[in-house]
Amino acid sequence: MSDTANNPLLQLSFRIPFDRIRAEHVQPAIGELLREARARIDALAADTAPRTFDNTLMALDTITEPLDEAMSVVRHLESVATYPELRTAYNAVQPEVSSFYSGIPLHAGLWQAIRTYAATEEASALTGTWRRFLTKTIDNFRRHGADLDPRNKARLEAIDMELATVTTKFSQNVLDATNAFELVIADEAGLAGLPPSAVAAARASAAQKGLAGWRFTLQAPSYTPVMMYLDDRGVRQQMYRAYAVRASSGEYDNRPLLSRILELRRAKAELLGFRNFADLVLHDRMAHTGQRALEFLEDLKHKTERQFARENRELLEFRRSVEGADAPELQPWDVAYYAEKQRAALYDFDEEELRPYFPLGRVVDGLFATVQRLYGIRVAEEPGVPVWDPQVRYYNVADGSGKFLGGFYADWYPRENKRGGAWMDALITGCPADLPGSKPHLGLICGNLTPPLADRPALLTHYEVTTIFHEFGHLLHHLLSRVEVRSLAGTSVAWDFVELPSQIMENWTWEREPLDLFARHYQTGASIPAELFEKMVRARNFRSANAQMRQLGFGFLDLALHIDYDPARDGDAIVYTRGILQQYSPAPLPPDHAMAAAFTHLFASPVGYGAGYYSYKWAEVLDADAFTRFRTHGIFSPEVGAEFRDVILSRGDSEDPAELYRKFMGRDPDPNALLERSGLLAG
Ligand SMILES: [Zn+2]
Repeated sequence: MSDTANNPLLQLSFRIPFDRIRAEHVQPAIGELLREARARIDALAADTAPRTFDNTLMALDTITEPLDEAMSVVRHLESVATYPELRTAYNAVQPEVSSFYSGIPLHAGLWQAIRTYAATEEASALTGTWRRFLTKTIDNFRRHGADLDPRNKARLEAIDMELATVTTKFSQNVLDATNAFELVIADEAGLAGLPPSAVAAARASAAQKGLAGWRFTLQAPSYTPVMMYLDDRGVRQQMYRAYAVRASSGEYDNRPLLSRILELRRAKAELLGFRNFADLVLHDRMAHTGQRALEFLEDLKHKTERQFARENRELLEFRRSVEGADAPELQPWDVAYYAEKQRAALYDFDEEELRPYFPLGRVVDGLFATVQRLYGIRVAEEPGVPVWDPQVRYYNVADGSGKFLGGFYADWYPRENKRGGAWMDALITGCPADLPGSKPHLGLICGNLTPPLADRPALLTHYEVTTIFHEFGHLLHHLLSRVEVRSLAGTSVAWDFVELPSQIMENWTWEREPLDLFARHYQTGASIPAELFEKMVRARNFRSANAQMRQLGFGFLDLALHIDYDPARDGDAIVYTRGILQQYSPAPLPPDHAMAAAFTHLFASPVGYGAGYYSYKWAEVLDADAFTRFRTHGIFSPEVGAEFRDVILSRGDSEDPAELYRKFMGRDPDPNALLERSGLLAG
């Protein structure tokens, strides 16, 4: 039973009643909010009063707010506390909601209203955030088809619809092709080299399928240990080959879909007046054009090549030092295996040794202490707030002066009703108390960290500690936002800028001073021994040129397909991309290697990371470079912290990110800091 008056999704306020929202509330509430939003858009378009910023642009900024907030609550619950009825309800509303949003720029009356406003004197006198909001709105509408005639609008909608279908099928094929493979080892002797955890997982996987022996699959937790540790070269080769040809033939063949996706993306770019899909997608990102993104990758490639060659030479030498001078060149299925042996020989470092120093409670307290020193903010838990699971904690965040900024939920541990990974999300995008439209921010942080045992607190890996710091960086970007236009606030920034606030936080988990603040043995209280810390730091950059070249190769593949690739001239896309990847691979790729057919980052959704894979490296350049200021002035420097907060964390997208970056650094980004951090500067 659910009527409008008692539907909690229709009365959301800062204290979200997570304990009362049920699946049956979703469809009535979202249906109602969609109706309201449509009516408000029509009313805005039909308004005959003279156009002003408030009745046009600010109105547009707030029209979808109740729908945005209700959908973010529903989406969130579906990902952390799902059950069949909730999933069904979410799936039922999702298509209509997404078609509502993509229809906004195609609303002729609304577009007319915006252009009428843009022609007023008030509009031409706008400055700062207000001017940017106007410019970006017009730009956004255009890039989403506002200027097209009705026939071309229909074509655009048809392209988008087909892209949604084809990319969904692409992703399902990868999943099905991955699941279609299994390899069962019957003889225990065949498991030589594997760590006990991988053996146990393979045994459990076989038992679950009612099989004897040990079962291996192409899913990462099964595949990766085989590549790294299994002594049996033949099995490594078989697994590698199966992985490399996923979804490239037979029942789950993605080749025709890949061609179609590229064709549709080219057609869409052309329809909207762009040279190629990369230019369409990157137009409002920091890189702006595909060409600029390419140059960025080229530069890093030149600076990494020499060390890449050296690492590959050293790996072969290592193999020969162990197996004799006539041991053969490395094949792709040998690389991770010998690299792991080389790493063990060089560093004698076991990640697991660090766990006792990272009990979750201390790590989280240390994180709060770090941001208090850097940004002057105080984080305090508030018990008794309604949550979606008893494990969830709620925290308030206040300024140094005690002014309330907002709150967030933290949900750290895995559960069966919760999706994997770690992420931050915004629930309410507010505005500070001293600005008009004042309203506190509300967000959340989720992880799937190692849970506590009966007699032991949750002891994290260093990677998990880094993950918490990373996601908390995104959360700060949201909670410290001081932007009056909601759609330009917080983390709503260009994709190649959004990882700066998060990735920069990771740096504090690699430095002695902050580690001493929170990395304490859970039984003895001792800090990490110097020798262990040294090993951790040295092992960090092992084969970093290979890691970097791999990412660069994916970035080049992505841009090549979305800028240059011409099927008439270049032929089959799989063959074409194999030629590119070969330049970044430490070993010769097999002739049927078809990685692009399973590249879900690029092809599992209409845009996804398409033409944006370079962003990973781009953001690393920004964060490594920006962190040098903390390095120079003290990594707890409140002055540098205040500046970072002022010009980056509080500014959202209210100004061009390149400009914000220059305000903080006094210059453009310099890739040397990343090369130095990765141990690649010496060349
Ligand atoms: Zn992130």
